[in-house]
Amino acid sequence: MTDRTPDILVLGLGPAGACAAKAAAQAGCNVMALERKKQPGAPVQCAEFVPALIGAQVEGLKANTVQDITSMITQVEGEAPDLMADFPGRMIDRARFDAALAQAAQKAGASCLFGHNIRAVEPGGAVILASGETITPKVIIGADGPHSLAGRAIGAINKEILETRQICVPLRKPFESTDIFLKADIRGGYGWLFPKGDVANLGVGVMAADKGALKPVLETLHAALIKDGRIGKDVIGHTGGAIPAGGMVMPHGMLGATLVLLAGDAAGLTNPVTGAGINAAVMSGHLAGEAAADWLDGDADAPENYHQDLKDLFGASLARALKRRREILHSYDNENTPTPAQLRAGWIAYSDYWAA
Ligand SMILES: Cc1cc2nc3c(=O)[nH]c(=O)nc-3n(C[C@H](O)[C@H](O)[C@H](O)COP(=O)(O)OP(=O)(O)OC[C@H]3O[C@@H](n4cnc5c(N)ncnc54)[C@H](O)[C@@H]3O)c2cc1C
Repeated sequence: MTDRTPDILVLGLGPAGACAAKAAAQAGCNVMALERKKQPGAPVQCAEFVPALIGAQVEGLKANTVQDITSMITQVEGEAPDLMADFPGRMIDRARFDAALAQAAQKAGASCLFGHNIRAVEPGGAVILASGETITPKVIIGADGPHSLAGRAIGAINKEILETRQICVPLRKPFESTDIFLKADIRGGYGWLFPKGDVANLGVGVMAADKGALKPVLETLHAALIKDGRIGKDVIGHTGGAIPAGGMVMPHGMLGATLVLLAGDAAGLTNPVTGAGINAAVMSGHLAGEAAADWLDGDADAPENYHQDLKDLFGASLARALKRRREILHSYDNENTPTPAQLRAGWIAYSDYWAA
């Protein structure tokens, strides 16, 4: 496999890695991308919802849409649900979406290899594979998710993490809204029920310290929705995973003569309140691929320009979400619990979230 050393080595072939590999290959670079999963996007670790507003520029969403979403319903502590009637978006087939992005990268000329686990990224820029092989590229694009090895190597670590647990359940009746559940016992996160035709993704996310609460909290939500007659008892699938919730980390650094750029979850671009990161992964991946190509072309400012682009695109929304998340977490200080009004102020459906 390593009969050639690529100029650019992309770690991970989720949306960020695939888009980075495609953009760099399109710019004429010699690109290799390595992914530990045996096939793109599987198993899926995602609730598969992309709001129309932020997904407008993302290629491949329409082709992989399973159903449209029109509204959002938020239920706070079991009170009467609040309807946000105009909240359009799509539920996608994430495995198919990721596969299409990887295929597009391959088509652009990147060598996309699955079933390759990266074991370490060394201080001198060498990337060590589980097979024992070593590759030292000119540029590493770390698109290897929330616990990025490339990020760790340059000291850019996602310190705040949300942990999640999700099941797939049968729906009694199809619907077209994303359902959100805010409760004081879902600390630093929320519950969701997102429909996909006759099934739905039902999940919860909590701050990492509460990981042990995930199972009982999800079971309680599951039981309540069965009782309400909304879903069936069967569990069709399980998933989960980590989500960065601390905002953007420094997305570039040097390891010896090797430039490292981080994209997507590795760069902490996921919204700390909603946990949405597909759109940011696609956009940052594309920009990272272009920045890598520019740097190889002699543009010494390319890494800092990339950082600036990320700040311009995501800085304001990340800052607001971080502020609201911190406020909610503070409301647990001194053994207090947040009131329903505080929970509402921490969620995007309510005007207090958007207030100055
Ligand atoms: C349960 C859950 C629900 C979510 N729901 C939504 C949602 O509804 N909408 C939304 O927008 N976002 C959602 N997200 C967030 C979204 O999935 C991520 O923001 C998005 O996948 C980020 O893309 P990425 O390419 O940066 O990272 P990833 O998609 O995580 O891709 C990173 C890739 O790197 C690979 N990798 C990691 N380490 C190594 C290694 N050592 N060697 C080789 N390969 C490696 C991984 O296998 C993975 O394929 C959810 C996340 C979770 C966990």
